[in-house]
Amino acid sequence: MILLDGKVASAAVKETIKKETTALLENNKRAPHLAAILVGNNGASETYVASKVKNCEEVGFISSLIRFDSNIDEKILLEKIIELNNDASVDGILVQLPLPKHISEAKVIETISPNKDVDGFHPINAGKLVQGLPSFIPATPYGIMLMLEHFNIQTKGTHAVVIGRSNIVGRPMSILLSSNILYGNCTVTICHSHTPNLNEICLQGDILVAALGKPEFVKEDMVKQGAVIIDVGITRVADATAKKGFRIKGDVAFSEVSPKASAITPVPGGVGLMTIAGLLKNTLQAYKNSYEL
Ligand code: NAD
Repeated sequence: MILLDGKVASAAVKETIKKETTALLENNKRAPHLAAILVGNNGASETYVASKVKNCEEVGFISSLIRFDSNIDEKILLEKIIELNNDASVDGILVQLPLPKHISEAKVIETISPNKDVDGFHPINAGKLVQGLPSFIPATPYGIMLMLEHFNIQTKGTHAVVIGRSNIVGRPMSILLSSNILYGNCTVTICHSHTPNLNEICLQGDILVAALGKPEFVKEDMVKQGAVIIDVGITRVADATAKKGFRIKGDVAFSEVSPKASAITPVPGGVGLMTIAGLLKNTLQAYKNSYEL
């Protein structure tokens, strides 16, 4: 069984990004710049944004963190995004989700310039992805593709089962795996909360991507012998014995599933780290696009 270690794969991706950034600086160019907006102080969002900022520093990018209170007016947030869209020194913009209920996530996503949409959530980028045109791929599915590439997991002609159909993970993942690209060309079945016979479908998956947000949902009896298991889930589960009072759980029951898998991602230390690698790649690409490099 191969452990699809996100630390190893993301370090390799970050190393190539760092080399490119160093070369830019040596040629007296500015560094790529990611602007992150955080609304409120949700614990998980704080952790994700802090990690994105830290990773930007590690590869030599500039990062700006813009914070707003949770009761901020939607109009102020949209105005800030427009200001960043018009700021030539900013290459990528991300607004950490989820947002407070009174703010429309759709409006926020559509306000970000598609050219700076490094999370790949804008409908223009989603449409381009569907048509196989160059676009910003949502960071998590992009990170998973980078993971498959790093470990040279053969996908062509296999049956991939994706559990979850969200715009940020499940659906773009299913599109990528079915696309005529390297590490694509799978026959894909996408499952969701209304899928009957989920166990039977999962048992057919040579590749199984679990992105439903239900801790340890995928058990050993749902997994084909020798399958490649990609666990996207991240859920904080209360645990009084843990230092922080919770533990991070994936969507896969790792200890019972891993003996049956040919390769599997751990949680934490798997897809989450690759998501950041995907975001950094998108930010560098946005920079290159703006300079036509
Ligand atoms: P979401 O809630 O938007 O979507 C969940 C999907 O799972 C839905 O399409 C739903 O139909 C499906 N689903 C729910 N229950 C199901 C069931 N019993 N059987 C079959 N399908 C079911 O969630 P999301 O934003 O796609 O995130 C999914 C998980 O991935 C969450 O745990 C989230 O925290 C995690 N996540 C991780 C990363 C990362 O970097 N590792 C990034 C994004 C999301």
